[in-house]
Amino acid sequence: MTIDSQIFTDVDYEKNGKQYGALGVPQSFNTSGWATVYVPICVIKNGDGPTALLSGGNHGDEYEGQVALMNLAREIQPEQVHVRIIMLPMLNRPASESGTRLSPIDGKNMNRAFPGQRNDTITSIIAHYVAHALLPMADVVVDVHSGGRTGHFYPSVNMHHLPNHEQMKKMIDTAMAWGAPYVFIYRDVGGEGLYPSYAESLGKVTLGTEIGSAAQFGKAMVHLTTRGLRNVLRYTNILDGEIEPGETTPQVVAAEEREDYIMAPVSGVFEPFFELLDKVSAGQVIGQIHSHELPFNEPHPVYARTSGMMMSRCSFPLRRQGEYLATVVRPFSL
Ligand SMILES: [Zn+2]
Repeated sequence: MTIDSQIFTDVDYEKNGKQYGALGVPQSFNTSGWATVYVPICVIKNGDGPTALLSGGNHGDEYEGQVALMNLAREIQPEQVHVRIIMLPMLNRPASESGTRLSPIDGKNMNRAFPGQRNDTITSIIAHYVAHALLPMADVVVDVHSGGRTGHFYPSVNMHHLPNHEQMKKMIDTAMAWGAPYVFIYRDVGGEGLYPSYAESLGKVTLGTEIGSAAQFGKAMVHLTTRGLRNVLRYTNILDGEIEPGETTPQVVAAEEREDYIMAPVSGVFEPFFELLDKVSAGQVIGQIHSHELPFNEPHPVYARTSGMMMSRCSFPLRRQGEYLATVVRPFSL
């Protein structure tokens, strides 16, 4: 297969067995005019049939998927696989190394860069390769996210509400197999160019996640991620073994209105009046924002504009006007 990309790789996607390698992205730095940034990739193949494309580190400061995929790349053996698993544990490796959401090289968000361009900055070049070289091979696409340093989430497997009922049903059924407490249908309120949106538009069974946050990172969240990835591979018959159910039956919830995403009305320090999973009603005060400039004035109230359950909130209280505060969800059924 000829791929129109600047990226070169030492893995052969058609070769049986397990290969560890890298996507080489040509770069030029002040310290080295000729350089390559290596994005790690693992390909495990055994025969012919469906392909799962799994990624972590789309946002560099979200480490659950990165750790789970590095562990799974070592753990899974070719004889357990039918037929191919492609793993990118650190899709935005420069961001992973700098512990940031965005790339430190070009300042871009990998999850706003799809489908990318051949001749652009590094984030867009990687997105372009994933979109044009890897996605065409994939049947199941999983891009693992969490709150990183900015969001605090009750763990969920995510997707958009798609017009294709059959694709949507397949995606919800696959998401249920993950074994996270929630399956969460979300709306884009932070721009376009998301990797999962692009994969969904190609008709792929596409799952994202929001699993915890940097502050919640630990044994439980890494376990929930690793078990979930294994379960999805088993549910789709790509990996041998039994599905290990989660602790609870996953519930499907959605935040489909723009008003379900509460942004800061003013800048300051956000004090929440709720914990995750609390019920709220439209018009209810869900927190208040303290002012640096007028610290002894009454804090600015923050209202829920819709009714439902609190699914997530910002994990860092310092907010500028317009920045994210919280999400309200309601039960969803197809
Ligand atoms: Zn993310």
